[in-house]
Amino acid sequence: MQGLVFQIEKIVGKSGIISGDDVAGRPTNWLGLGNREAKAIIRPKTTEELSQVMKLCYEAGQTMVPAGGLSGLVQGTDTDKDDVLISLERMREIEAIDEAGATMIVQAGVPLQSVQERAEQASMSFAVDLGARGSASIGGLIATNAGGNSVIRYGMMREQVLGLEVVLADGTIISSMNSMLKNNAGYDLKQLFIGSEGTLGIVTRAVLRLRPAMVSTNTVLVAVNDFDNIAKLLKNFSSDLGGTLNAFEVMWQNYYSLILDGNKQHKAPLPDDYAYYILIEACGGDQQLDATSFMQVLENAMENELILDAVVASSEEQRNALWAIRDDIITLVMTMLPAAAFDVSLPIVHMEKYIADVTSNMQDKWGDKAKLAVFGHLGDSNIHLAIGTGVENELDHGEVEEVVYQPLANYGGSVSAEHGIGLEKREWLPTSRSTAELDLMRSLKKMMDPKNILNPGKVLG
Ligand SMILES: Cc1cc2nc3c(=O)[nH]c(=O)nc-3n(C[C@H](O)[C@H](O)[C@H](O)COP(=O)(O)OP(=O)(O)OC[C@H]3O[C@@H](n4cnc5c(N)ncnc54)[C@H](O)[C@@H]3O)c2cc1C
Repeated sequence: MQGLVFQIEKIVGKSGIISGDDVAGRPTNWLGLGNREAKAIIRPKTTEELSQVMKLCYEAGQTMVPAGGLSGLVQGTDTDKDDVLISLERMREIEAIDEAGATMIVQAGVPLQSVQERAEQASMSFAVDLGARGSASIGGLIATNAGGNSVIRYGMMREQVLGLEVVLADGTIISSMNSMLKNNAGYDLKQLFIGSEGTLGIVTRAVLRLRPAMVSTNTVLVAVNDFDNIAKLLKNFSSDLGGTLNAFEVMWQNYYSLILDGNKQHKAPLPDDYAYYILIEACGGDQQLDATSFMQVLENAMENELILDAVVASSEEQRNALWAIRDDIITLVMTMLPAAAFDVSLPIVHMEKYIADVTSNMQDKWGDKAKLAVFGHLGDSNIHLAIGTGVENELDHGEVEEVVYQPLANYGGSVSAEHGIGLEKREWLPTSRSTAELDLMRSLKKMMDPKNILNPGKVLG
């Protein structure tokens, strides 16, 4: 097999491949931690190079695992000593921006933040944003159909992709670089690859859709005690702001107090004894008008006693401080260790009952020592749960998963709202998908990757 590595090196050059002991020096996650185990790490510079590499791997039956910024949270880029990792880290070019058509053509390895900044320079915006923006690559975001903070307004990654270039398991290049909003000429093939977690093809380039730049941003953190009022507020802010609602992020009291206690750099914007805190943000095209209508909706909500307390961000600094509480995943994880984090979705009407079920399951299993923190993109029916069992030794992942996933089925929920399945949630996929759906997924995989060499074992097993 060393022969294969040698042949690949001839295609990508010395700087395009890492092999031998150097592989272990490469991380396995976005924090730069872990020691990679793989036969080699291949770093192509062009689609054509990647296609030639994949043809060789296909002939040799060599398994391949695609990777971008390693910020995925479900072990989608895990490798073992027999795999080769295909890293898109050298394909980082923003190739073109079309201001009239509001599109950008990028290579798959470009980090999200670079796309956002380039769009801003052209007085436009890119609609996906998430905490790992500095690491997450466009290819990874497409492969996981990532969501983030503005899904309520613009949808997930799927809605931001107009065209795609992909290399199939056997090295065939599918160039489907459509740049038009409308194109119904046959099957929309790109949709097959978006959200397929690198199991059907490797994304090399994309045509992204851009949106108008926002002139105004209005942000408020509100406190609520009654869960029913959250749904009422969501409805009011959605309808009364004329479609400018950008984010509706809810933090349960257990999350809010944990973050404020765990990191003294945050100043408490509101007392920590309310049941729920909601970060509401609207973005629009007119500073004055948008601020007036935002304050009007807020005042109405206060008059109707939907809100008990509120703090409006009056500067960018204050806005950042509010978002920093919502985004402080590092403090969350550090204060709960050993802990496990979950990303589920379910209809808002069932959320309160679902969290009560999880809390009661936790109590039964681990008693008072267990900790739960809940937060998330509630406007998208998506909540994240972090659970610390309070046990001294290693966490039993399977046991915690049961506590979280078992009750979901009763409410028609999904075990993955936005992070995907990877290796981590594979066992639980049948909880959220029917046998007929799983059979069709398996048939597609078999047809497109008959030798099962593309990210094998991920998603379907
Ligand atoms: C702090 C933090 C906050 C986050 N917040 C959110 C959030 O709000 N919403 C959300 O949806 N997600 C969130 N995520 C997770 C999110 O899924 C990833 O950030 C991102 O989508 C993955 O991009 P990546 O380049 O890091 O991909 P990787 O981690 O490198 O890969 C992820 C998956 O995609 C595959 N893949 C990677 N590149 C390609 C390619 N070019 N072609 C085919 N397959 C490929 C991999 O094989 C793997 O299965 C967050 C993560 C972190 C660490």
